[in-house]
Amino acid sequence: VTTFIFDLDGTLYLDGAALPGAVDSVRELARVGHQVLYATNDASLTGDQHTVRLQRLGFPAERAGVLTAGELTARWLAERPEPPRRVMVLGPAAVAAEISEYCPSASVESGADADAVVVGLDHAISYDRLTQAFRAVDAGATLVATNGDRCYPGSDGLLPGAGAITAAIETASGRSATVLGKPSPDMYAMLMARHGADPSDTVVVGDSLATDMVAAERLSLYRVLVLTGVTTVPPDQEETGPQLVIPSLDRLLPELTQRRAQARI
Ligand SMILES: [Mg+2]
Repeated sequence: VTTFIFDLDGTLYLDGAALPGAVDSVRELARVGHQVLYATNDASLTGDQHTVRLQRLGFPAERAGVLTAGELTARWLAERPEPPRRVMVLGPAAVAAEISEYCPSASVESGADADAVVVGLDHAISYDRLTQAFRAVDAGATLVATNGDRCYPGSDGLLPGAGAITAAIETASGRSATVLGKPSPDMYAMLMARHGADPSDTVVVGDSLATDMVAAERLSLYRVLVLTGVTTVPPDQEETGPQLVIPSLDRLLPELTQRRAQARI
């Protein structure tokens, strides 16, 4: 059994619609007995919500097989030697919901007395909330970010990302954040541990060189880049580059079958 870990946005779907060949390819992998898992930096939905969305699009998804950067962050906090009691979230409501569910020691509240500050993409960021977060971190609170994205594409141009908000708190406090989403390898490591996946028999499929491919390279996982999302031009072969580059997911099974020995499936 090979374990396949799929990125979501730009890999399986785009703008809410499944990409060509994506549903059929993933269903076929599951049908022949491979393990199919999903890992996303998108913390604007909870793991429950992502699971329902995948199922509605036709993908074979179960809740335990889906990991978001929000759940990863909540579980990471819960595993600290001293789990936090008060967590301030600068980010989507889904991140606060994941912390309430998976870090049971913590109550989610604002204020400078928080002992952990979690930064995601916060559309309601204000100077007041930035001040509260800074004062908490300055007083010793753990600073965690669900992703390190400097910016991201909006309909009318680039927008500042979670990394920009994190950088403001880092600059003010002089302390560094722990960044947990991809390209940190924590997401794949947690998902593989949960499902008993063998790193030498795990294939990561994603659309981003900077996040999906770098995170997979750090764990020496087999890497497939699909050119339907953020990376649209085949990269020069580098150390962190993918072993296989495909134009869209309908090529996944034919190409992997051709490279069976190399792909270890
Ligand atoms: Mg993606």
